[in-house]
Amino acid sequence: PLPVVAVVGRPNVGKSTLFNRLVGKRLALVDDRPGVTRDRREGEGRLGDLTFRIVDTAGLENAAEGSLEARMRAQTEAAIAEADIILFMVDARAGVTADDERFADVVRRAMRPVILLANKAEGRAGVDGAYDSYRLGLGDPLPVSAEHAEGLGDLYDALAALM
Ligand code: GDP
Ligand code: MG
Repeated sequence: PLPVVAVVGRPNVGKSTLFNRLVGKRLALVDDRPGVTRDRREGEGRLGDLTFRIVDTAGLENAAEGSLEARMRAQTEAAIAEADIILFMVDARAGVTADDERFADVVRRAMRPVILLANKAEGRAGVDGAYDSYRLGLGDPLPVSAEHAEGLGDLYDALAALM
């Protein structure tokens, strides 16, 4: 079976943009069981010669029940539980927010390997925010741009080291 990679982080950091870039047109059927898996998308991701299952934790803002906090936590925990590797994404332009810190707490407790991605770091715009994310305690941030396909060589190296 392919390793499972979960893309985790607060809304609007660029998780789905990265998911779409890594999956391309190979989108699998969405698992639409009711409850915690709702709105989750899965596909076959590829980066260079690496192939993996990738899970996008999407749609948190639109779930029907519970507080935003509870829904975010439930969906993130469900994705993490079946992941072999977690891509934890922050917005390097926005810097670290209180929501990032709450998600990081959940991820840290999962005891899974984590790759910290500081997204929206195209050009030099995200350098400060990328440094800021060191304090999440999830290792060295990799500056990337999901939208502009920058930093994916470093992501490849980090993934390859864990597969
Ligand atoms: P999600 O909520 O975490 O899934 O985030 P989305 O993938 O929906 O992206 C949220 C917004 O950030 C969208 O407007 C994207 O176009 C934008 N975005 C995503 N990746 C990048 C990036 O690398 N650079 C910049 N500048 N914007 C990005
Ligand atoms: Mg999304």
